[in-house]
Amino acid sequence: MCLSNLPLKLLIALLCCLKPTLAQDTSYADGEMRIRTAYVEFRQQGLVHKSIAEIQVEIGDGNLLLLTPDGQLHTLEKKDIISVEPTEEVMIPLTSEQIYEQLRAELPANFDIYKTRHFLLVHNTTKIYAEWVGRLFEDLYRRFYNYWGNARGEELAEPRFPLVALVFSDKASYLRFAQDEIGQAAQSMIGYYNLKTNRIITYDMTGVDGLVPPGRRVSSSQVITQILRQPQAERTVSTIIHEAVHQLAYNSGLQVRLADTPTCVSEGMAMFFEAPDRNSRVGWGALGKVNYYNLNLFLKNLPSRKPNSLAELIGDDTQFQSASTAGIAYPESWALTYFLIKVHREKYVSYLAELSELVPLSELSPRERMEMFSKHFGDVQELERNFLKYVQYRVH
Ligand SMILES: [Zn+2]
Repeated sequence: MCLSNLPLKLLIALLCCLKPTLAQDTSYADGEMRIRTAYVEFRQQGLVHKSIAEIQVEIGDGNLLLLTPDGQLHTLEKKDIISVEPTEEVMIPLTSEQIYEQLRAELPANFDIYKTRHFLLVHNTTKIYAEWVGRLFEDLYRRFYNYWGNARGEELAEPRFPLVALVFSDKASYLRFAQDEIGQAAQSMIGYYNLKTNRIITYDMTGVDGLVPPGRRVSSSQVITQILRQPQAERTVSTIIHEAVHQLAYNSGLQVRLADTPTCVSEGMAMFFEAPDRNSRVGWGALGKVNYYNLNLFLKNLPSRKPNSLAELIGDDTQFQSASTAGIAYPESWALTYFLIKVHREKYVSYLAELSELVPLSELSPRERMEMFSKHFGDVQELERNFLKYVQYRVH
């Protein structure tokens, strides 16, 4: 589970619900944002930074949403902005090595780096565990891009920034870091994707150290087999994949960071791809498998499900933010996404395309969200009846 929309809610609170306006010479044409580049000097967490940055959105009277070369988004209030000097230069993303150097300043000294083709894992766990996670990420990358390339009839954009994951060796050190970023919510999560920093944060959930007796040399495949034999293996694999799906969706242009995408869409997609594959040597592989963990929860919740509650799921994200309702909203988001992709794939793709044009930090009312949804899928009550029938009687 993750609360990937949490930072958005924090931001909205921080910015007092100021409605965004387009930055001075930002315009939207052909569905693309045109963004101005500037050297911006600003204060953040007691420090002064100066960086070339892309100003994505201007909010209210002088508050800015900035994208910096490390791929991070910064929401700045006017009082924290010292200077803005427009430039004709193009912002060049940092390399993996530059990001690692930047991270070393934030992390204890014992962190190491493991680089795959698209991902940068910064970790203080074993190399074997980091390699296994890296392999899962790359497997997902290939399948995710193939899947959407086929579904859309055009390739997704390559990520602009190195895809960073911080992997802590144990829960205690993960929590020390995560609580600084997201507060107490970290306690209930075993990993999350941070929309602002663009990083995955997680920890070694397998206790892999204990699986290798001291002094004994074992192959990584032996350790992976051991990892996958553990009772928690399935949820471990699902969590790693889930967070990486969020990261890929936001770095490939499929979704827009800090835009008002309904949580049921972003979470539903992550759960659609996370379904484990017991026949795979690394624990995950084929896409579009039934996610039994979520199917069983959905069916268990079904007798007490409120009639016509699909509109609430799409229009209102608050149910994902409390433990009592999130246990209902997450499985239903998986079920809805599974139904839409399996039965209405073209409509789902066109719906995603419209969502990918949303402006960061803009907000849609529940009614606007529903109008957009029904523009693609038609009558919502009829769709809801078909959805419930399909998941109960056609999914096994
Ligand atoms: Zn999530």
